[in-house]
Amino acid sequence: MYEELLSDKVKVLKPSGIRKFFDLAATREGVISLGVGEPDFATPWHIREAAIYSIKQGKTFYTGNAGLLPLRREICSYMHRQFNLDYDPVKNVIVTVGGSEAIDITLRAIVNPGDEVILLQPCYVAYEPSVILADGVPVFIELKEENQFKLTAQQLEAAITDKTKAILLNFPSNPTGGVMTREDYAPLIPIIKKHNLIVISDEIYAELSYSEKHCSPANFDEIKDLTIIISGFSKAFAMTGWRLGYMLANETFITQILKIHQYVIMSAPTAAQFGAIEGLRNGQRHVDEMVEQYKLRRNFIVNGFNRIGLKTHMPEGAFYIFPSIKCTGLSSLEFCERLLEEQNVACVPGDAFGSAGEGYIRVSYAYSIEEIKGALEKIGEFMKQFQ
Ligand code: PMP
Repeated sequence: MYEELLSDKVKVLKPSGIRKFFDLAATREGVISLGVGEPDFATPWHIREAAIYSIKQGKTFYTGNAGLLPLRREICSYMHRQFNLDYDPVKNVIVTVGGSEAIDITLRAIVNPGDEVILLQPCYVAYEPSVILADGVPVFIELKEENQFKLTAQQLEAAITDKTKAILLNFPSNPTGGVMTREDYAPLIPIIKKHNLIVISDEIYAELSYSEKHCSPANFDEIKDLTIIISGFSKAFAMTGWRLGYMLANETFITQILKIHQYVIMSAPTAAQFGAIEGLRNGQRHVDEMVEQYKLRRNFIVNGFNRIGLKTHMPEGAFYIFPSIKCTGLSSLEFCERLLEEQNVACVPGDAFGSAGEGYIRVSYAYSIEEIKGALEKIGEFMKQFQ
């Protein structure tokens, strides 16, 4: 009886496949999980201390809507230092409640009802619902393992219609760990320019690029002003619980997007902003150390999975591997359910990231080598029945 009072848009949304699976895992004792997409490191202490100090000093008020100016300045100088990108702290930045908010307010600001937004599957679980909630129409491109889960110019060209407004990119990718290099992007740039597409580039894993320095579409001058970069502190600075992110775009976009942020959020959490200033000023060593650890774990886990018979490509970024489970003949959900049932290990079924993820599982290596080792032994046991 209450159901009919709700909006149709909300009713068609499916709960996240990750959550659904982990609710199941939570009903069991002693589960080893390689499922969660967040760093196992606590936030570096100097960041925590700076936030605590701000509270002690009574800095408990709203900040300006776009975020503390010193933080926006630090974000811009960090982007310049790390990624060779130049933005103006006053005109081009909004500090948001995680990358999550930035995705939502960006889509709401650019989509008119019926506009198409291209998503690359398998992709982060929030993209499709965010497009639907913004009255947009998601259009999917399936990325292929044989292309290392990269987007090709032919795929992009084929997906564009006269309704296409934007394309949402996420490299390094959750869930595949795939990246796009400058050479990979180059053939896409004239297509984006020709069709005047907005590029929403979710670069939340930019720092976790293991072979080459991260490249953003905004590094191409021709499309810099068509690109909206979304990033945040959750992954590289191990700050998931602080709920702090940011977005960078041209002044026209920022002015309009800021109106939505202003009315629905007011300003991102103040203590978190003070912590982030400290992180950007003095935290590079800690970020580098964590990235080094992830790289060791990546090499360890990819070798481990290939050894036990689950073909896994070497991902160049983020902290996920995306092994193929096709050799078992099981669906990704069956595989994960049985692995949980028989060995008490939790991974995420690939189809949680869209139908293109069927035949794969997502495994996070944001866990210690000991935990990964323990899980690998159990997955190895599980795989014996298929050999
Ligand atoms: N984008 C991607 C690709 C993610 O994996 C995540 C978190 N899992 C987010 C955005 C959101 O991160 P947050 O809101 O914590 O910044």
